Amino acid sequence: MRRLHLATLCLLLLPLAACDDARDDAPATTGAGTLAGKPNLVLVTVDTLRADHLHCYGHWRETSPNVDALADEGVLFERAYSVMGTTLPSHLSILTGLYPHQHGYLANHGAMGGGFTSSAGRHTLAEALAAEGYTTAAFVSGPTVSKATGLDAGFQVFDEHHHPAPKTLEDTSRRSEDTTAAALAWLAQAPREPFFLWIHYWDPHEPNLPREPFASAFRTDERLEALIDERVIRPEVLAERFPPRELARLFAPELAPALDAGEDATLPPIDRDAVRRLLNLYDGDVLATDHAFGQVVAALKARGLYERTVVVFTADHGQALGQHDWLEHGRIQGEDVHVPLVMRFPAGVLDGPRRVLDVVSSVDLLPTLLARLPQLAVSDLRAQLSGEDALGPGDLRNSAFSQRSARDRDWEPGEDTDGPKFALTTRDWKYYFRPEGTDELYDLRVDPGELHDVADAHADVVEALRRRVLHVLDERRYTPEAGAEDTPEARAYREMLDKLGYTGGAERH
Ligand SMILES: [Zn+2]
Repeated sequence: MRRLHLATLCLLLLPLAACDDARDDAPATTGAGTLAGKPNLVLVTVDTLRADHLHCYGHWRETSPNVDALADEGVLFERAYSVMGTTLPSHLSILTGLYPHQHGYLANHGAMGGGFTSSAGRHTLAEALAAEGYTTAAFVSGPTVSKATGLDAGFQVFDEHHHPAPKTLEDTSRRSEDTTAAALAWLAQAPREPFFLWIHYWDPHEPNLPREPFASAFRTDERLEALIDERVIRPEVLAERFPPRELARLFAPELAPALDAGEDATLPPIDRDAVRRLLNLYDGDVLATDHAFGQVVAALKARGLYERTVVVFTADHGQALGQHDWLEHGRIQGEDVHVPLVMRFPAGVLDGPRRVLDVVSSVDLLPTLLARLPQLAVSDLRAQLSGEDALGPGDLRNSAFSQRSARDRDWEPGEDTDGPKFALTTRDWKYYFRPEGTDELYDLRVDPGELHDVADAHADVVEALRRRVLHVLDERRYTPEAGAEDTPEARAYREMLDKLGYTGGAERH
């Protein structure tokens, strides 16, 4: 405690250079030292990037040389899971350290009404760092993180794509090369330090239309054939399940803009060859994103900033790519929520590069980051965090809660349109809580692809994991203030939770 007080006093009373002694005394239990002064922070979030398509996460293809290099210098979390397979809620969780039911955004389209506005207990990292004296700037690439969502809170510069007359969804997004160019132009102006720079990339999001040389970077080989078999991708089922427009977005991306604009187009056969092409193009977009990320790192190095900059690389969610008979994202199967998470700190903060095997959640990102940066006060932000320091001493929670977006997608067919509403990933299990159906359980030790439901054989595990899900949902649920705009989706969601008894939490055990 004495050391903590010393560090706090240094922050409050003394020039930072005078704090060296206190830093050297920092508790060793976290395996961390601290930095001289406040470091710059660069956060890169990639939309729709599943972890297992990066080389440093085991993909055989060289899709990610620059992320691999970052991981070689930092800490890579092998099993990081996003809270939702949906862009806005997931990003808000990354930036607030709160679960969706705590920050209040359960879907992309205003499930709780209007754009995000912060309030007590719901502040964003950008707001906290701006109050701490940081220069803050964001460069984003897609519509679901636009200014209209409120994600610009705390950013002095918020650079997004503007199309003069958007006709298709593609018109509302931009490529990583364009976002990077804007971010590098900002860096070239030598922004006042310390700065917080958030860059959001969109390339792996469907439709996958990488430019050369990325478009033809990957060709079908035996290992791709094995992957398609291993994931049990069934093009004939997908062709029946999804309407032409969705099929085009994945399997004939060059037709997607025309279909989005209401024009007619004839789809190619949705067969195994279409699946091969989808996977090759997706990997091309991953490589294009990695290339753009590499340019950012190179610019930081060229400007002499890298050694005093923390770099965090992650994704908001994954992408089904045909797995579990699904095409895009939004659900909470492993392929939807297993995301990359790599953190690289300036020298002296970590003992050395490492790979962490524990299960962590995207709500753990901020606690883990801020635990390495005790020179930042950000006390309101620290107080609100729901996650844990994934590199800290003691037992980690070692599980990750995810939940389905609360808004139905109108193209979802069939009964049970939402799929499982809640999931918990633990070291050994993947558990799905279906409030309106039968719970599911998968033994990840022998079934990492979640193909064989073993809930019947493990009723005790199901019960224990259900209690953990209910416990997460009981914590600090956000309710809009009286008079705030409400929506039918938000009301329906809360009624569903109320029916299940998530109202106060006091009686829940
Ligand atoms: Zn997204």
